[in-house]
Amino acid sequence: MHRITRAIRTQTERTNEMEHSTPMFLTSSFCFDDAEDMRAAFADESDDNIYSRFSNPNVKEFTDKMVALEGAEAGYATASGMSAVFGSFMALLKKGDHLLCCSSIFGSTHTVIKKYLPNFGIGYTYVPADKPEEWEAAIKPDTKMIYLETPTNPGLDIIDLEFAGALAKKHNVLLSVDNCFATPLAQRPVDFGADIVVHSATKWLDGQGRVLGGVVVGKKELINDIYLFCRSTGPALSPFNAWVLSKSLETLDVRMERHSKNALFIATKLEGHEKLSSIRYPFLKSHPQHEIAVKQMQSGGGIVCFELKGGLEAGRNFLNSLKILSLTANLGDTRSIASHPASTTHAKLTEEERQAVNITPGLIRISVGLEHQEDILDDILQALEA
Ligand SMILES: *Cc1c(COP(=O)(O)O)cnc(C)c1O
Repeated sequence: MHRITRAIRTQTERTNEMEHSTPMFLTSSFCFDDAEDMRAAFADESDDNIYSRFSNPNVKEFTDKMVALEGAEAGYATASGMSAVFGSFMALLKKGDHLLCCSSIFGSTHTVIKKYLPNFGIGYTYVPADKPEEWEAAIKPDTKMIYLETPTNPGLDIIDLEFAGALAKKHNVLLSVDNCFATPLAQRPVDFGADIVVHSATKWLDGQGRVLGGVVVGKKELINDIYLFCRSTGPALSPFNAWVLSKSLETLDVRMERHSKNALFIATKLEGHEKLSSIRYPFLKSHPQHEIAVKQMQSGGGIVCFELKGGLEAGRNFLNSLKILSLTANLGDTRSIASHPASTTHAKLTEEERQAVNITPGLIRISVGLEHQEDILDDILQALEA
């Protein structure tokens, strides 16, 4: 079966009611027929559910679909994207290990790496997203993992996954990719040698701004380590959120097709606008890594970024003049969203750190929704003129 079909048809076993749509298994624990069944489950001799911190049918359905979509061996779903990121660091890194990390990463991931990993004796080096030729020199004997996002947030740099996969293999280090921005429909890091792939399911995977969730997929033994860490420490995905997310994956393909189409339309129409000093979208020919983008991505995704000539003040004016687009701390929704990273998601970075990852004062990030493309464009155009 094609993976899109598996994302729709993978289903928890029907109950005696013969329901068509999977019901919610809102239960914290599961029963056993007898002492022997219970013993076998606790001894890991059966796949029976024990307790929803360990496993739950809704969580399993969502996870199995993500494993199919990413072409991975195994997966584990978590309460949020950050618990997937943190859980994978804590399960796979230990005292004395070194993490090589691409500098353009999600704000909270940056906080985890910079503020908390050193408390556990885990060191790190940041390398620039747009200068992969500098990465190899930063690998040390104790480097255990390379961590990256592509496209990056919010600068939309594209990192060559084939290059990253080959570098990780050459130095025998793990490659972990946050695939949140592209989704498995646009790009599959496992095909390029990623050992694990992490996601915030809160974004495009849900796609409707309703629930938090996360998931990590990848090589079986690595996922098992992450599972064992998480089942003991507790960032389990709630069955309700898993039920929502599993349903969401059934429409991910058609949603991403339209998000990408709308985003390309907006980017193409805004390119060269007199109020903008630059615009970025992976599938615009003017994107500095356009060739890599079309090599490894099936579509450009739903995020468009541009830089306003007027800097910080123009950025605030633009946000204040929007009539349709939402000002909210999320992305990957049916509703288009505008954000100003310098004053919000990346405000905790120092000015220098922001400059290093190209977050300029006038940078605006648009998460292009599913509204009619002309309504989205008109709102942006009138706000640029205001
Ligand atoms: C939002 C986001 C995260 C964190 O996910 P949460 O679900 O908010 O915890 C991680 N990586 C990227 C790229 C994100 O956009």
